[in-house]
Formats: sequence, C-alpha cells, structure tokens
Amino acid sequence: MKKGYCDVCGKKTSYTVKKNQITEFKGYEVNVIEEVGVCDLCSSNVYIPELESQNFKRLYGKYRKLAGLISPDELIEFRKRYDISQRELTAILKLGKMTINRYERGAVPSKSNSDYLKLIMNNSEVFKNSLNEAFKKERITQKTYDKVLGKINSSLEDPFKKATISSLTHEADEYNGYRTFDIERLLNLISYIADRVDLHKTSLNKYLWYIDFQSFKINVRSVTGLRYIKHQFGPVIEGKKYEEILNYFDEKFYKEEFEDGDFLKTTVKSKKNYDLSLFKKEELEVIDSVISTFKSKKSNEISELSHKEEGWASSNPGDMISYEYAEKIKIPF
Ligand SMILES: [Zn+2]
Repeated sequence: MKKGYCDVCGKKTSYTVKKNQITEFKGYEVNVIEEVGVCDLCSSNVYIPELESQNFKRLYGKYRKLAGLISPDELIEFRKRYDISQRELTAILKLGKMTINRYERGAVPSKSNSDYLKLIMNNSEVFKNSLNEAFKKERITQKTYDKVLGKINSSLEDPFKKATISSLTHEADEYNGYRTFDIERLLNLISYIADRVDLHKTSLNKYLWYIDFQSFKINVRSVTGLRYIKHQFGPVIEGKKYEEILNYFDEKFYKEEFEDGDFLKTTVKSKKNYDLSLFKKEELEVIDSVISTFKSKKSNEISELSHKEEGWASSNPGDMISYEYAEKIKIPF
C-alpha cells in the first residue's frame, strides 16, 4: 500500500489517488488531468511529490503547446546537438545574460523570444548568420566558432539527407508526440538498439514505435519526434522513410543483407559510436525496458504484439497513428 505524510493526521497514512480535471490555466483551456493523493483516514489532500511533478509536467506541457512556446527540453536538446554551453548560446544569440538558463529551468519565455529561438533552432542558415555575427563582434572565441560551424555545415552537406530530414520534420503535435523530429536522436537510438539486439529491418519500426509511444505514455513526449502510419505488418515510419534513413545515414550503423530461403533480409549493425547523453534518464529507462522486453522475441512475434495495440487496431490502413493512444499501450514494460 502506498503511504504519504498527512498533515492533518500528523503521520504517514495510506492514500487513494483521485483525478481532477484542470480546465483553465493562464487563460488557456488546458483540460489536463491532475492526480492528487487523498488520505484514507481523514480525506484531506496528501502531498505526494511524484504526483505533483507529473501534474506539473502535464500542465506545463499542455500550456506550452497551446501557447506555441519553446520548451526547456527543446532548448537543452538544441544546445546538446551543437555541443554548446548556456553561456555560449547566450553570446551567439545576444540575449540577456541569464535568459537561456532561466528558460531551461522552466521560466516561460515571452512570445517574441520564443519565436526567435524557434527560428534559430529550425533554420540552420539563420543560426549560421547569428554565429558569424557573434564571431565578428568577438562575443565568442575562435574555438567555439569552429566547433559550431563544423556541426552546422555537416548537417547541411548532403542533399539526400537534407530532403529526408525535412520530409520528417513537422510542428510538434499529437502525431509526433509533441516533439519536432530530431535526426541526431534517431540515429543514436538506432545505433544503440542495434548494439543491444539482433536488429532486423522489419522489427526496427516496431522498436521505434514502442519506444516513442511508451515514452509518451510515461514522459508526455516522444523520443524521436517521428510520425507513424498503420501498415499491414504494424506501425511504420511515415512515408516508409526508414529505407532512406538506412541508406543515407551511415555514421552510426550500416546495413547487412543475407539470404533466408527465398528472401533477402536486412539487418542493422551498430558502429557502437552512439551518444546516450542526448537522452534523459527517464527516456533511457523506457528505451532499455522496451529493448529487454523484445530482445528474445522474433520479428513476427513483435509484429503480432503491435497488432493487439489499440493505436494500430483502431486506425485505418495508411492512417497516421495518434500518440493519444499511448496511454493504452498493453505491454507492461
Ligand atoms: Zn489524514
């Protein structure tokens, strides 16, 4: 039985979780569920830190989405992608000294700062211009300049890669788990999965789908920002873009083909150079739990499991599967 400290009873008591609906927050119709512990002895509210932090996450997640504002996670991920500190980013963008620091700790940005940051994050040409400007005005060192420029250029180089990335990039909504697609996260994730399991091309989509949906269920956000379509054999990445990802992006993994009877099968091999620091602790927990659940299962077994999921079963072939189905995931990871 779960226990929490009840102020009214003055001791630890067992409690029951009750759900309330929060309809309005800061002028927005949020309609999110709030979970509160209620003392079994005296019916007073009991403060349960885990529930509070989940409530906070849900409420602010929804609020930010509604207000279209940038989230702390998006900022942190952006800095990680370019390997820059809060101070370096502040200098590049010429923002107030503690601005990035405050936003990353959860302060809600103004609409204009949020729009500016979004533009920088979604358009590497604009970011490059800011970088050049910051270097010319000596706000950043040569070392920082070279490092960031190198990363921007390598992400722009290849037209095939660029086209693939842009076809997978959409505004954050219920179909990508409220995350704009992040190629670095996807490549590192695939490399990590391939290192841990015997990864076939056919099961890759299911691993990713379960990881993204389970992460949404637990953490209110997907890991990769991918959108999935209902396909006959299970959920697949929109536009079957996994083919292009396996063909064009070979920094972290490579394909290996082998004959199995009359079929040519493809496995994905890790180059073992993945960077797990891109993921948060609670995301890695989800990733590892999905991997250990599927590790000993064959592709067709994983496929069958995915067919029992409501997100797949209730969608029509070719439909995009909403992350709203995540809470109904049946496998107890
Ligand atoms: Zn009580």
